Amino acid sequence: MRRLVRACYTGAGGYSYAKKAEDVAREHGFDRVARLASNENHRPPSPAVLEAAAAALHGVNRYPDERASALVEALRRYHGDYRFVTGAGMDGVIETVIRTVVEPGERVAVSTPTFSFYGIAAAAHGAEVVNIPREEDFSVDPKKFVDGARGAKLVFLCTPNNPTGNSVPVEAVEEILEGLDGLLFLDNAYVDFADIDYRPLMRRYENLIIGRTMSKIFALAGLRVGYAFVPAWLEPFYNRAATPFALNSVSMAAAAEALTESERVQEARDHVLEWRRRFAAEVPLRVHPSDANFVMIDVAPHTGDEVVERLAAKGVLVRSCTSFPGLGNHAIRVCVGEDWENIRFIEAMREL
Ligand SMILES: *Cc1c(COP(=O)(O)O)cnc(C)c1O
Repeated sequence: MRRLVRACYTGAGGYSYAKKAEDVAREHGFDRVARLASNENHRPPSPAVLEAAAAALHGVNRYPDERASALVEALRRYHGDYRFVTGAGMDGVIETVIRTVVEPGERVAVSTPTFSFYGIAAAAHGAEVVNIPREEDFSVDPKKFVDGARGAKLVFLCTPNNPTGNSVPVEAVEEILEGLDGLLFLDNAYVDFADIDYRPLMRRYENLIIGRTMSKIFALAGLRVGYAFVPAWLEPFYNRAATPFALNSVSMAAAAEALTESERVQEARDHVLEWRRRFAAEVPLRVHPSDANFVMIDVAPHTGDEVVERLAAKGVLVRSCTSFPGLGNHAIRVCVGEDWENIRFIEAMREL
């Protein structure tokens, strides 16, 4: 029956997941493994968030609010008066945006090397995916970017970028917005760890979407909550294209509560900034500058895959960058975890 499956799924391809911590622990005989491969927040949600989720569980015989009103209200309190759309993770938002604006066969451009899901989702929708390579130092040249995006209906730019960690300055994004034919999706999954704010651009450009997630600094990766700032004209069409009830009521309630905990967010940020600095100072290899909760490290002449294996044998789980198209195979990506995880990682790198 395999012949019934689309060709894009019978070959290789698809999203590439990190190894499971339980598997690494079993394989190498560790009680616990340092989980630094998935850019998560190591600290579990607060009691108040857990209570909000538990309270919502009592009502799950009902469908969730399709307008996500309580979450959108919480977003307005947190960010100010913008238009928001929501989805099952930012991944869900990305898929819905593609569905809203791209006809099969139309062009979608992606600034690479970057997060792989933009290209995967666009190709699954039948789009022609065009890669716009970044410069040698992973910066983005606005003129080259606009040239590369010619004819694209939708363009993805990740800043701070996963996995390289660097940000694109606001002025460069503005230059891109001025020159672009299509819509720019600016992925801000890691912006809370940077000192940069793209939100004011929403007031001036009609061709900008800013994607955000509750999975990183807000510590809700398992609940799958994402959202985006959208121009007013897009909102009704996005809602028409969206999967009905994509965002469940438990996740929404937890996310709305988490958005009130600014002190916790600040603590998470301080922790990341402190360890990001220590990674750069104490790992005896080239650590790329980062504005995110992870760093990319050049491990040449070793390959990323080889270093991932050797670190796994020392009870440390990190991500090889080999699966990021356009990056070669000499880099790993490591996120900041709990103190003991970070220390174990630094020690393991020194022993390598
Ligand atoms: C983690 C991540 C996302 C998606 O997060 P969700 O868990 O789907 O909300 C989107 N973009 C980038 C660059 C990411 O690293």
